[in-house]
Amino acid sequence: MKTATLPEQLIEPVQRFVAKPQKMLIAGKWINAQSGKTFPVFNPATGEAMAEVAEGDQADIDLAVRAARQAFDHGPWRKMTPSDRGKLIWRLADMLESNREEFAQLESLDNGKPLTIARAADIPLAVDLFRYMAGWATKIEGSTIPISVPYLPGAQFLAYTLREPVGVVGQIIPWNFPLLMAAWKLGPALAVGCTVVVKPAEQTPLSALRLGELIMEAGFPEGVVNIVPGYGETAGGALAAHPHVDKVAFTGSTEVGKLIVNAAAGNLKKVTLELGGKSPSVVLPDADLDSGIPGVASAIFFNHGQCCCAGSRLYVEKTIFDKVIAGVADQARQIKLGPGLDPATQMGPLVSDEQQRRVLGYLESGMAEGAEAVTGGKRLGDKGYFVEPTVLVKTHSSMKVIQEEIFGPVVCAEPFTNVEEVIAKANDSIYGLASAIWTQDINKAHRLAAQLRAGTVWINCHNIFDASLPFGGYKQSGWGREMGHEALDLYTEVKSVCAKLS
Ligand code: ADP
Repeated sequence: MKTATLPEQLIEPVQRFVAKPQKMLIAGKWINAQSGKTFPVFNPATGEAMAEVAEGDQADIDLAVRAARQAFDHGPWRKMTPSDRGKLIWRLADMLESNREEFAQLESLDNGKPLTIARAADIPLAVDLFRYMAGWATKIEGSTIPISVPYLPGAQFLAYTLREPVGVVGQIIPWNFPLLMAAWKLGPALAVGCTVVVKPAEQTPLSALRLGELIMEAGFPEGVVNIVPGYGETAGGALAAHPHVDKVAFTGSTEVGKLIVNAAAGNLKKVTLELGGKSPSVVLPDADLDSGIPGVASAIFFNHGQCCCAGSRLYVEKTIFDKVIAGVADQARQIKLGPGLDPATQMGPLVSDEQQRRVLGYLESGMAEGAEAVTGGKRLGDKGYFVEPTVLVKTHSSMKVIQEEIFGPVVCAEPFTNVEEVIAKANDSIYGLASAIWTQDINKAHRLAAQLRAGTVWINCHNIFDASLPFGGYKQSGWGREMGHEALDLYTEVKSVCAKLS
């Protein structure tokens, strides 16, 4: 296939990396797919194919799982001290940081996100996550437990627990923060001593493949991290179902999350899921609107609304509704759309043609059901996957645009009268990933925080992430947590050891 010319502002290492045929990483070697097949990766700003990547399927997943199994069961990785494991992860963080501009450009090119965002958020957060998890490698501790054993009076025991790595982990990565989501999963798995098969999203495999090169350069033993690009139904499905995988960690849509659970049932592998959201932003009448209006606008428009925790439902107390909506619409109109690599761009294209069609389909359905766009509501231009930042009003709880995750720059705004009403509305969702409260009243803020059924509650902020802060969902937004020490527990098994003392 003839691939498009790359944007000329890309630095030379990115030009070189994207131009070369991309292989998969299995057992420390870069190899082609067993089938010989490749798939194209598109530039979302132009819709043109720009790279060719080896297309993994069941045969390649099987090879990669064998490599990970071998590395876990017999390789040097399990014998490495926790301190050495931690140092390797830290080294990877250092290498990522030294190559940060290359990764930021790669991410912006592949995903479409503004380079400024990749530089400010995606890359530094990934570096920080690896450093945070590197520190944990030496702190994976069990406990000593005083036991009583009522049927053996007088007997003495020494009982303790060990936290051991769960084994071979399959990690299925989404396209919205390709490198960062890979880091969220790789960091804890490596810190506890698991081995991994990573399946990046087919839309955005490039940064994970480049990370694979750094992983090998850093000195991770072969087979500890294997990277198999390919499509969800084939490569992803094979990984979720593989009988020799001990755990699968997935980030993506709730619909696919349910398929993962079914696929994992064959060998009852452990499953963690970080899924969709329909996160409410609640603006109380005493909120500081100077920060609140840009805050709720950025809650939805950051990363083009392609965040599982995007503030896509906006509930505003009725006396300030018009003012807030006018302010948010004004913010939306000022956002400069363009190719991610353009320094002036504040919002790039959506990631793919499919995603653009999906978002436009939701806009059409909302309008057909009576919603009105205060601003936006359509595609921008006819090249690339751009959609205008959109504020919908006159929505109600039975509409698809309120119930379903759009995953685009579309916020649905509704007024409310009192706190009880807004709690009911905010919780009226199959999702429970995140939520935000805007108020200057500390008592109201914390009372409301306790009543929102969501894994994260932000107060006077949104989209605040930190390697130490657990993130994950209530209800159909997922199982388990990523980041923080909670994530480590989900990559370990607890072994109870009990010795009878004579
Ligand atoms: P979206 O619908 O937003 O593209 P997905 O949930 O489909 O998000 O994709 C997230 C990740 O899940 C990607 O790596 C994708 O390839 C993978 N995936 C999609 N379908 C399946 C499936 N049936 N089994 C396993 N992985 C899948």
